[in-house]
Amino acid sequence: MLQQTTVATVKGYFAKFLGRWPSIKYLAASSHDELMQCWQGLGYYSRARNLHKTAKIITDQFNGIIPDSYQELIKLPGIGHYTAAAVAAIAFKEPIIAIDTNVNRVLCRLFGISSIGKNQKLQVQEIADQFAHPKYSGNLSQALMDLGSDLCKSKTPRCSECFLKTDCLAYLNNLQNILPYKPKKQDRPKRYGHSFVIRHGNQLLIEKRPDKGLLAGLYQFPTSELLNAQVAPEFPFQSLWQPIGTVRHIFTHFELELTLWETFLPDVNQGVWVEFENLGNYGLPTMYKKALAYIKNPVLD
Ligand code: SF4
Repeated sequence: MLQQTTVATVKGYFAKFLGRWPSIKYLAASSHDELMQCWQGLGYYSRARNLHKTAKIITDQFNGIIPDSYQELIKLPGIGHYTAAAVAAIAFKEPIIAIDTNVNRVLCRLFGISSIGKNQKLQVQEIADQFAHPKYSGNLSQALMDLGSDLCKSKTPRCSECFLKTDCLAYLNNLQNILPYKPKKQDRPKRYGHSFVIRHGNQLLIEKRPDKGLLAGLYQFPTSELLNAQVAPEFPFQSLWQPIGTVRHIFTHFELELTLWETFLPDVNQGVWVEFENLGNYGLPTMYKKALAYIKNPVLD
């Protein structure tokens, strides 16, 4: 849950999540929809999907017990190098250092690593491997993480208070505010789409997104294809469509602008119709939750 997300945001979700699924076995037996409903608003939904898949694998193939080696952990869905190393080192005392952003920053500064991208990663890994200890790798990983978050901060490193300052190449060369070098950020491309809010009394029509791709398996108001340019809407059927607002949302790789259109139908016979107050029971991604504000209080352009 903490990937790309702050502790403050995660706190409430974490408690609710553990309350609902107190063990891997319960999580493995849960339904996809229920999981998505619990996760809604937290974003990066692939984390939830991977967690679910991993719970099922651990239950089916490992008798409900989390595998205790880096080599097995890294094979599980959603577990990358950092998580596998952190769990292996901290929980199972494997001689491996977990390298997160903080650890990377500390090692780059301490050892004056001035490369970027892949080379930086390789150099940091090489140094970290030298520190791997059969007993204390977990403690060392956590100590480096704490050092990075408390003293060796990204923007304002507190070098004068740091016990490593006499050995730190960045500090000795006055590079502590410059290292580690980061690759230049690319501008996020923009995409555009139209969402169709179809109402009947107090009910709204929603549909499930495909099982693969962006926001896979979540619910949405029927939505057009997302394109690189603004185009006129192709309405799903003839009706009196009113523009009610625009929703903007930032994804990791692009920024989305959705124009919302609303219409009322006299009768309903297909699709998933949900009472307005029950929409929270479905896994609605944040951008569609933003749309709810317009549906409650329609604003005509
Ligand atoms: S001396 Fe400064 S740059 Fe070096 S490890 Fe300590 S806080 Fe980081």
